[in-house]
Amino acid sequence: MKKIGLLGGTFDPPHIGHLTMAEEAYERLKLDEVWFIPSAEPPHKDKARVSATDRLMMLKIAIGSVDYFKINPIELTRKGKSYTYDTIQALKESNPDDEFYFIIGADMVEYLPHWFKIDQLVELVQFVGVKRPDYQLDTPYPVILLDTPGLDISSTMIRERLEMNRSVRYLIPDQVLSLIKEKGLYGQRTST
Ligand code: ATP
Ligand code: MG
Repeated sequence: MKKIGLLGGTFDPPHIGHLTMAEEAYERLKLDEVWFIPSAEPPHKDKARVSATDRLMMLKIAIGSVDYFKINPIELTRKGKSYTYDTIQALKESNPDDEFYFIIGADMVEYLPHWFKIDQLVELVQFVGVKRPDYQLDTPYPVILLDTPGLDISSTMIRERLEMNRSVRYLIPDQVLSLIKEKGLYGQRTST
């Protein structure tokens, strides 16, 4: 039996908030692996700014050579909306001996009451919540809380900074920034 953390997201782009929450969960919960699950069409928000292929490439680069971080593209290969409920059911079916932990930020903890089939979902998977500035961690649902540094960083903020040609160095891995610049993702103007 393996203990596997799951981190679903748009990763548009991936940033150090995602990486540090994955690392913290890995360490504190003594996980064997953390699987990053890029979503195709998130049910609760607008379409991603860049293609799934580009998000996947950025995520691969962000993870780098950390061997316990993996990408599971299950939601990209499935059509339609990416409901966590369907994802967890499929993962449990294909990995019946493993134990799954679904890692979410406090914004998603607040949003849990609106998740598709949430009452069944909490029976299927253990949620793990990490703090995020401006959001609350109290919830009626069973969530393991982890004490992370609480970084006030989001992909939205990074996209906005890139559009304004402001620096995002140290907010995302250097190699991800190089790819963004090389491919001209997020419509930033000339490089600085
Ligand atoms: P966007 O601004 O586009 O919504 P995001 O930064 O919220 O991007 P997502 O891909 O939406 O990133 O998030 C994936 C998961 O990571 C979610 O559970 C989210 O709560 C969590 N997360 C992202 N950034 C942070 C952060 N800085 N601190 C804690 N959790 C975070
Ligand atoms: Mg988000």
